[in-house]
Amino acid sequence: MLEGNEFKRGLNKMDVENHTCSKCKKFSRVNTLPPKVIDSGLCYECYFKDDSRYPFTYACDAIRSWAGYDKEGTKIDRFDASVIRDHIAKILNMTDFELAIKLADYYMAHEDEIAKKSIEDFQGAERL
Ligand SMILES: [Zn+2]
Repeated sequence: MLEGNEFKRGLNKMDVENHTCSKCKKFSRVNTLPPKVIDSGLCYECYFKDDSRYPFTYACDAIRSWAGYDKEGTKIDRFDASVIRDHIAKILNMTDFELAIKLADYYMAHEDEIAKKSIEDFQGAERL
């Protein structure tokens, strides 16, 4: 019982942690925003409006980082990554755009750890 209530309180607390966009004054829930967006003081829409790399390029970069590296750099290029993304989207019954948004959001939220792993992989590949 208590655990259930504490769990509920935790959820409610997250719900009320709102973030106000400094540009358009829109409220967003903090737990729905990538850290980068929160730091910028903007809402999701304002942050990405002028970023042409969102979501497709970021989605491709996420997939490329998982494919790994060789001496030349990433093992697959952006075209290969977008073909893979498109196939997965079809299997999941999503549009390519919807999946790209999910992947781009994941990439933004985990950018630091992805970058760290990418550097390690690339340095490992160079030593071979
Ligand atoms: Zn805004």
